[in-house]
Amino acid sequence: MAINYLNLQTEYQSRFGGEPRLFRAPGRVNLIGEHTDYNDGFVLPMAIEYATIVAAAVREDRKIRVCSVNLGEEGEINLDAPEQKFRGSWLDFVEGVARILERRNVKLRGADLLISSDVPTGAGLSSSAALEISVGLALTEISNQSIDKVQLALVGQAAEHEFVGAKIGIMDQFVSALGRKGHALLIDCRKLQAEQVPFATDDAAIAICNTNIKHELAASEYNTRRAECEQGVEILQKFLPGITHLRDVSVADFEKYKNHLPEIIRKRCRHVVTENKRTLDAAEALRKNDFEEFGRLMWLSHMSLRDDYEVSCRELDLLVKIASECAGVLGARMTGGGFGGSTVNLVRREKLEDFTEKVSIKYFRQTQIATDVYVSNPAGGASEIIF
Ligand code: ADP
Ligand code: MG
Repeated sequence: MAINYLNLQTEYQSRFGGEPRLFRAPGRVNLIGEHTDYNDGFVLPMAIEYATIVAAAVREDRKIRVCSVNLGEEGEINLDAPEQKFRGSWLDFVEGVARILERRNVKLRGADLLISSDVPTGAGLSSSAALEISVGLALTEISNQSIDKVQLALVGQAAEHEFVGAKIGIMDQFVSALGRKGHALLIDCRKLQAEQVPFATDDAAIAICNTNIKHELAASEYNTRRAECEQGVEILQKFLPGITHLRDVSVADFEKYKNHLPEIIRKRCRHVVTENKRTLDAAEALRKNDFEEFGRLMWLSHMSLRDDYEVSCRELDLLVKIASECAGVLGARMTGGGFGGSTVNLVRREKLEDFTEKVSIKYFRQTQIATDVYVSNPAGGASEIIF
């Protein structure tokens, strides 16, 4: 569902009056590098063509009036009143971004904001980062302030930590802020450095399939995995005293010392150590336009997440299996934290329609659940929309 800018402007005028400026920030899909972020490792996401648009203009007071077209809800934040956190609603994201900007010396003016998004929520495409980054950019720019994109990403992350209560990594906000059209973004989660990696999608396209399922396990298992990785580091430190995170452990080191790890911890560590390597190898494959190799790494990533990290589920495995049976699919894997959410697929362009049809039919037949398929080229990061 592409957003109609004219409708958005018209709606803005009838609701708030005045001439808004428009800002956008994209959702994202992680191509490879799963559960590596909190191990100080590497991730390789790309921004997608689905985005959140914010129509914005200043007010004379220090209130932020905000309306979400998607939810049909509105709210108000007074920047001169005490902070409010953990409401458990989307206003936490908006208030969080505004407050953290101000704490970082970006002095804001009051604003009227109208928000509209075609990023599906809860599909693992990071509608929350798209919301934070578009709102953050809009508030900053209309207040005649400036912020660099890395800082903007950190503001979005801090808003989730401190106002929403989600202890997330930096990937989503980084790629929503810094993504570049025609590129994936290789992020070093330790150094908070990002490298644009050219991703030519003339021959092969990215298709995202939503299981439309979210198992309750996700949050508790996430915490368990984090703890298991830390236990792995603690044991391996006896042999590799310099390490602080699994990022520091090479595949060769892991092979050398793996027998000192209890079985479960060994499996978790094997996933992270090999996934970091796969992510770097995948970036190299993209640079060389070697999509066969990229696809091969995607399959391996899925198997590792399924068998070693054990964060997949029946529906994700089914979507990957169906993809493996479709002609022209170079690679497929679960993407995001797991236990539901989406798969990411690399599909030869001429086979895309076939793929979409087959996946939809077969998935429904076996689950009685409809999948949604989103096709996207690598898109640009946050920007003002100028006509
Ligand atoms: P994801 O980021 O994977 O889509 P999250 O649970 O992190 O899932 O974020 C989804 C939440 O973000 C929604 O429940 C809502 O609170 C907020 N959100 C995202 N997009 C919008 C929007 N356009 N309008 C209002 N709230 C939104
Ligand atoms: Mg999110």
